[in-house]
Amino acid sequence: MAEKLLVANRGEIAVRVIRACKELSIPTVAVYSTADEHSMHVKLADEAICIGEPRSNKSYLNINNVLSAAVASGATMIHPGYGFLSENEQFAEIVASCGIKFVGPSADAISKIGDKASAKVIARKAGVPVVEGSEGIVDGLEEGLKIAKKIGFPVMIKATSGGGGRGISIIRSEKEFRDVFNRTSMEAEASFGDKNLYVEKYIENPRHIEVQVLCDSHGSCIYLGERDCSLQRRNQKIIEEGPSPVVNKALRKKMGEAAVKLAKAVNYVNAGTIEFLVDKNLNFYFIEMNTRIQVEHPVTEMITGVDLVKEQLRIALGKPLSLTQKQVVLEGHAIECRINAEDVQENFRPSPGKITQLILPGGNGIRLDTHIYPGYEVPPFYDSMLAKLIVYAPTRKEAIRKMLVALEQFMVDGITTNIEFHYSLLHTQEFISGEVDTGFIGRFLERLKEMHE
Ligand code: ADP
Repeated sequence: MAEKLLVANRGEIAVRVIRACKELSIPTVAVYSTADEHSMHVKLADEAICIGEPRSNKSYLNINNVLSAAVASGATMIHPGYGFLSENEQFAEIVASCGIKFVGPSADAISKIGDKASAKVIARKAGVPVVEGSEGIVDGLEEGLKIAKKIGFPVMIKATSGGGGRGISIIRSEKEFRDVFNRTSMEAEASFGDKNLYVEKYIENPRHIEVQVLCDSHGSCIYLGERDCSLQRRNQKIIEEGPSPVVNKALRKKMGEAAVKLAKAVNYVNAGTIEFLVDKNLNFYFIEMNTRIQVEHPVTEMITGVDLVKEQLRIALGKPLSLTQKQVVLEGHAIECRINAEDVQENFRPSPGKITQLILPGGNGIRLDTHIYPGYEVPPFYDSMLAKLIVYAPTRKEAIRKMLVALEQFMVDGITTNIEFHYSLLHTQEFISGEVDTGFIGRFLERLKEMHE
C-alpha cells in the first residue's frame, strides 16, 4: 500500500519531518490552526487541513480533530513531532486502533516509561542508576516529607506527567516543603491533568547528559552517543552539544549500555532519549526518558551522520535499523543554539510579531532548522522557538568559532530574539572551557544583573 504521512505538529519540526518524507517519496499532510494558515509547514506539505482555532487544545492537542484530518486525507502514518500529542499514550493507542502507523513507541511503552515516576521504578529494577528518592508517586504531603527528610534536603518535587522544565520545584527546608507541595500538585493537575508528584534528591550543579537510542521492531536497539544539555535556563535547554566535553569513551559506553538496557526493559520501539544527571565525580543517574524525537536531535545527526527522522520512519514501516551498534562512529563536534523570539532584557518575555527582515547564516558546517521567512508573523500562541542553529566542525574549539560567526550573520528584524544572549554565553570562560552545569545560566544572569546595578 502506498504510504501517506500526516504531521501532527507545527513549526520547525513539522518542516523537518516533511523534508524527510520528501526524500523518501512519502506524500505528506500538514495540519494547522487558523493562526498558522501562512506557516511554512502548510506551504511545504502536499496537502494541508485546518484543524481548529489557535489555542492548542482546540487544534494541535485536539485528538478528534487531528484524527479526523488523518482519516479524511487517507493518511497511513502519523508523525507527532515533539510536544503536543507526541507523548500522549491515548493518542498513540487511538491512532493504532484506526489502523494508522504511529511514528513512535507503543501506547504501552509510553505509559510505562513516559510516566516519570514509573520510569524510575523500571530503571531501578533494570539496574540503571537513579537519583535517590521516593519509590514512585508519593501519597500526600506527609509521606513526601518523610521521604524528603530521609534523603535529606535539598530535594526536588516533580510532577510525574510534567515536561519541558515545568512541574518541578527545588525545596530546601521542611517549611518550604509544606508550603510548596500541595501547590505544585494543584499546578500539575491544571497543566498536565495529573496531580501526582514524586520526590528525589536534588543534585547540586549537575550536568545534563542524554543518550539517543534507536530501537526497531526486530529486537535491535542501539545508542548513538550523548548530547550535553547543561546550558539551561529554569530547566529549559538553550544550548546543546555533542560529544559532551566530560564524557570519555568508557563512560559513553557505560551510559549507552544503560540506556539500551532501559529501552529494552519496556520493549521500546522507535527513537528515544534517556536523560541522565551527571555529578562532579562523573556518576550518572537516570532522570527520565523522552519517548519521541527531541528538539536537539540534529546534534546527534551531525556527529553520527545518521538521519534520525528517516530512521524513525523506517522503524515505523517495520524495517530494520539501517546500521548496527558497531557502525555508529562519532566524528567531529556539533553545537546547537535554540533561537527564540524573546526579550532577554525583559526577563525572557516572548516577543511574537511580524518578521520584517531576515538574513540567515549559512556556509560550510552550518545547519539551520527553521520555519521562519521574511514577512512571517510569529503567533503568540505557541512555543517561542524560531530556529535551531547547528554548527559542525572537527573540534569543539572550531565549532564554537563557527557558531560565533553564524550568530553574527543571523539578523531578524521586527521581533526581539535571544541571538545576542547566545553570543555572550559562547564568550564565557565557563562555556569555552566546557565547565558548565545546569545552574550556570542562572549564575551568569545574576552576574549580568550585578554588573548593571
Ligand atoms: P523535563 O521533563 O521538564 O525536562 P526533567 O526531569 O528532565 O524534566 O528535569 C529537567 C531539568 O531539571 C534537568 O535537566 C535538570 O537540569 C533539572 N533536574 C531534574 N532533576 C534534578 C535533580 N534531581 N537534581 C538536580 N537537578 C535536576
